[in-house]
This record gives sequence, C-alpha cells and structure tokens, in this order.
Amino acid sequence: MNHVVLEKTSDYSRTEIRNALFRLLAPLGGMGAFVQPGERVLLKPNLLSAKTPEAAVTTNPEVVRAVIEMVRDAGAVPFVGDSPGIGGLQRVAEKCGISRVLAETGTELVEFTESVQVTGPGLFKRFELARPYLQADRVINLPKLKTHGMMTMTCAVKNLFGAVVGAGKIAWHLRAGEDRELFARMLLEIYQLRMPDLNIVDAITAMEGDGPSGGDPRHVGLLIAGTNAVSVDVVAAEILGIPKKFLYLERVAEKLALAGVDRSSIHLSGYPVSDALIRDFQLPPISDVQFGLPRFLSRHIRHYFTAYPYPIPEKCKLCGICRDACPPGAMEFRDGALFIDYPRCIRCFCCRELCPEHALGIREGRLLRMIRKCI
Ligand code: SF4
Ligand code: SF4
Repeated sequence: MNHVVLEKTSDYSRTEIRNALFRLLAPLGGMGAFVQPGERVLLKPNLLSAKTPEAAVTTNPEVVRAVIEMVRDAGAVPFVGDSPGIGGLQRVAEKCGISRVLAETGTELVEFTESVQVTGPGLFKRFELARPYLQADRVINLPKLKTHGMMTMTCAVKNLFGAVVGAGKIAWHLRAGEDRELFARMLLEIYQLRMPDLNIVDAITAMEGDGPSGGDPRHVGLLIAGTNAVSVDVVAAEILGIPKKFLYLERVAEKLALAGVDRSSIHLSGYPVSDALIRDFQLPPISDVQFGLPRFLSRHIRHYFTAYPYPIPEKCKLCGICRDACPPGAMEFRDGALFIDYPRCIRCFCCRELCPEHALGIREGRLLRMIRKCI
C-alpha cells in the first residue's frame, strides 16, 4: 500500500508548522525513517519565481524551515536546491523568504546548474538532470499545491521538473509541450529516474484559478505527506475535486500502470479526506479541445479550436522574459508591442507562467467558443 497522510494545519506560524509536521510524519515512521545520520538530504521546494510567500507561488519558507530542523534533528545534513523558471535562484529565494530561513538555520542553497545525462526509462531516450538532484543521498520533495495552466494541477510529480536545469526546460516544452499527455509522460519519466524519498506538500495556502503564478491564494489548511509522489497527487486532486479528464499526469500514469496511481492501492491516514474536500476550487482558465486530428492538420486549424495567449498592452512592460523563454521563438517585439506568431505557438503557456506583470491573457478559439455555446 502507498501511505498518504493528511494533517490539518491552520497557518504558517512556526510552532503550528513544526507540531503539524511531527503529527504528519508520525504514521510514516517519523523523519528518522527517511534519513540517516550523515546523509546529505536535498530539500526541493517549488521556487518558480521571485514572489512573496503571500502570493502562494512558492513553497512557504516556514515549511522549509521545519523540514530543515527535522532533518537535522535526525542527524542528516539538509540543503535546499532548485532551478527556477526565471530570476536566478538567489533572487527567488530572497523574495520568497527562503534565504532568510537558510541564513537563520545555516543551510546551504544550491542552484541546479550542472547536469548529468541519464538514460530515460521509457519513451524518451535521454534526460539531462541536475547533478545535486541525482547525487543527493536523499531527496525530500516540497511542492506547493497549485493549479497549472497546462497540467491543470501542479503538486508532487510536476515539482520535479525543476530537476531539469535552466534552458533545458524550454527544450522539453518545445519537444513535448504541444501534446499535454506527451508532456505528462515526460514528467513521469523524470519522476521514475529519481523518485523522491519523501513528499511533503504545502497545501496550507494553495493557489486556485490562473496558476501556477497568476492565480489566487486559497486557504486549504493541509499538509500532505507520502512516499509515492503519484499517490500524493491522486489524493491532492481528489481533495480539490479536479475531474479526471483534466488530470493528464494521472491519466498517463494509469496507462503506464505506475505504482501508486490506483486509488485502491492508497492507504490514507490522519485528517479524513472526506472532511478535506473542497467543492468550489477554481480551475485554470485554459481549455483545449484535441479532436484526435492528424498533427499536421491540427497545427493549421488549432487556432480556432484551442485557447491561446494574447498580450495585454496596458500591462506589458516589454521586459522580454516571455519572448526569451518562448520554446519555439513565437514571440517578438514589433513596433513597440509584443507580437505572437500563432502558427508557431505550441500553446505551452510558459509565457503566462513566467510573465511577472500578468500581461498575457487567454482567449478561446472562435470555433471552440461556438462549440461551447452549442453544448
Ligand atoms: S508580456 Fe510580460 S513577460 Fe512578456 S514582455 Fe510583457 S511584461 Fe514582459
Ligand atoms: S507564445 Fe506562449 S504559449 Fe505560445 S509557444 Fe510561446 S510561450 Fe508557449
């Protein structure tokens, strides 16, 4: 059985988090069941971009602090690492409050810059993953529970995409981002290459709506832990009430018959999941219709059938972050305005994820709107 534990947690006060974490990990054997004295233990939070903790974009620093202290109490050596989408790790860590926690606890921050080539476990032949991620004695995954424009939800499995160093993420979006199931497959293969030893989800304040960076904080009041990241995601999605048709990771994990995806294989303990359910959690605004058309055909007509990003000139500061990150290079500045070459756009929505000004809206294709009106 794959054990997933829920713990009700009201806020991010230091004592509350520490006590809640002890209760959370007790049914799993405590932190000592996962780390041994002297081991180097990588804590992998969600450090997507430079936002304050209140924005609920990044894993809350008090959760990171409490895990650092527990790892150290178990005699191991914690360090924090990631490769943010934008902004450089140092800047992101400062803005989201993690630098202060690291300074106060004397903990090292390691930016993922060096990668190691590893053979893929299935469809994809090769991956380049961060050396500190692959070589740590233990990995504790610390995702933030959020909506995600492309994958609908980001939690334990999606958080491991941070193990892909810097621009490598753009390359993967280009290679697999046109097809959500293919992208989910890629994420699951990264997960299979190095499964975290433990996953602890910061779902105290989650993000709903236009996630993973432009949504609204939503109090969920939970910490979630488990050894199997797929099971943790299955339970998180159940709590948020996300329909299976939007859960690309879960659906692909089912096709691959990955351990932990079968709900009957998950043993739950702690706070009852039936009491944790959220009835009105707002999903991301992106919808997409993939009619199973041949790829070359769908490429030409998809503008009418799919959702697409559009620039909001009054908000856009022309900083170039989206243009530089756009995997197929479909964005450019023309006559002092941002222009998107839609036939080249693969609808990965990296631009919306990374724009610090929330200056990219989303619009549904004309035919998609008409179809919606008819059904
Ligand atoms: S849309 Fe956002 S990221 Fe892109 S240029 Fe404008 S402000 Fe910068
Ligand atoms: S314009 Fe935005 S959605 Fe389209 S390919 Fe570029 S980053 Fe992705």
